[in-house]
Amino acid sequence: MIHAGVIAVQGDVSEHARAIERAAAAHDEEATVHEIRRAGIVPDCDVLLLPGGESTTISRLLRQEGIAPELRDHVVAGKPVLATCAGLIVAARDAKDDRVETLGLVDVTVDRNAFGRQVDSFEAPIDVAGLDDPFPAVFIRAPLIDEIGESVEVLAEWEGRPVAVRDGPVVGTSFHPELTADVRLHRLAFFSDLLTEAAD
Ligand code: GLN
Repeated sequence: MIHAGVIAVQGDVSEHARAIERAAAAHDEEATVHEIRRAGIVPDCDVLLLPGGESTTISRLLRQEGIAPELRDHVVAGKPVLATCAGLIVAARDAKDDRVETLGLVDVTVDRNAFGRQVDSFEAPIDVAGLDDPFPAVFIRAPLIDEIGESVEVLAEWEGRPVAVRDGPVVGTSFHPELTADVRLHRLAFFSDLLTEAAD
């Protein structure tokens, strides 16, 4: 049994919860999903999801509720995190916006709504390292990943720009992997150890 926490202070929670359950099932695991709105639950979670939504609100509530330091401890312990869209903005080193207090879980800087200024929302098939076939990526007012630290691996690009990265146990995407039926990104973020073991 895997205990998965979905940060639920604001943003799209239920789609991620279903995707995590389906991703776990694909690895013959069962997942119990905990919606996290207060401190004290994260320490019991094996994996964590930081969903999309509104990064200014999410970052404020994470600090207000005392959840932010627990997220850092989770990453320091090497436990997996998937951070999507606004979640990636919050997890970044810097979002170049005083209204977002970033957590520094992923050594990237991001530009909020950078894709959105050009076009509000779109879907594109993208190649992701570790996946055999393109992933249908849904971008909604997506952040642009800008500066990338040395510890960061780029997993996917769209038009020459990074849109999925991994920094240690944290996978971050500019897009919304929970909005399609494809749960391979959730599997990659949370079960890649199992995938490696299976390959051995
Ligand atoms: N642009 C939004 C923000 O800055 C994120 C959009 C999203 O999560 N779909 O919070």
